[in-house]
Amino acid sequence: MSFLNGESYLQPSPKVYVQDFDSGAMDGMSSGVASANGSIASDNDVKKDFGALRVSVKHPPYQASTDDDDERAAIAAGNSSPGGNKLEDMAKAYRTVISHVGEDANRQGLLKTPERAAKAMLFFTKGYEENLDDILNEAVFDEDHDEMVIVRDIEMFSLCEHHLVPFMGKVHIGYLPTKKVLGLSKLARVVEMFSRRLQVQERLTKQIAVAISQAIQPAGVAVVIEASHMCMVMRGVQKINATTSTSCMLGVFRDDPKTREEFLTLIKK
Ligand SMILES: [Zn+2]
Repeated sequence: MSFLNGESYLQPSPKVYVQDFDSGAMDGMSSGVASANGSIASDNDVKKDFGALRVSVKHPPYQASTDDDDERAAIAAGNSSPGGNKLEDMAKAYRTVISHVGEDANRQGLLKTPERAAKAMLFFTKGYEENLDDILNEAVFDEDHDEMVIVRDIEMFSLCEHHLVPFMGKVHIGYLPTKKVLGLSKLARVVEMFSRRLQVQERLTKQIAVAISQAIQPAGVAVVIEASHMCMVMRGVQKINATTSTSCMLGVFRDDPKTREEFLTLIKK
């Protein structure tokens, strides 16, 4: 069977398959690989693979409260911070911001904005609550496939850690498997986990590549991100069409110019 059977893959050489992420054939793939082979990496394998990459939750642990209601409210809001309720604290901070930009925080349209903004910020940074163990659990498959796998145009939304404004774009991932492949939808989940944090594009690129490398020990991993930064578009140089490209090449993609060129050619439209 062919490893990828989406409609939109290109086949520039017999050994390479390209999958557009938008084509929607992703989720079926992992189960297809699993049933064809019948062997799924055990939990232990997965955990061992990611031991070095395990991501801890950044927020401080919940502090026991003497008041049961406070405790329930804090848990309902996600986590508590030592100073009180996280959501309330953040909303208070946003109220201050709204006042300092010259607005009336009590104006009707802004009354619930601090709380909404706080919730939105928690969503934009929900990657802190995720870890690779959970995301890749049961999605590493033993497969005798040694041809380049490329998933391109994975949508990415992140927050620039220098200005707390968005940067967004597309992520292209390629890897050359040895004995293990990753469920294709999981590549997007890895992108999501790292991008939903305060980031710089360079680090995001490398974190994705290293995570895939440690997960399945492929012969090489290539990650390219093309993104537009609102801190450049809306302020500073105000170059609306400027995009920033970053790449991280590991293994054969770094060592072998031909493999790298093949990948770079295939991700071009
Ligand atoms: Zn910035």
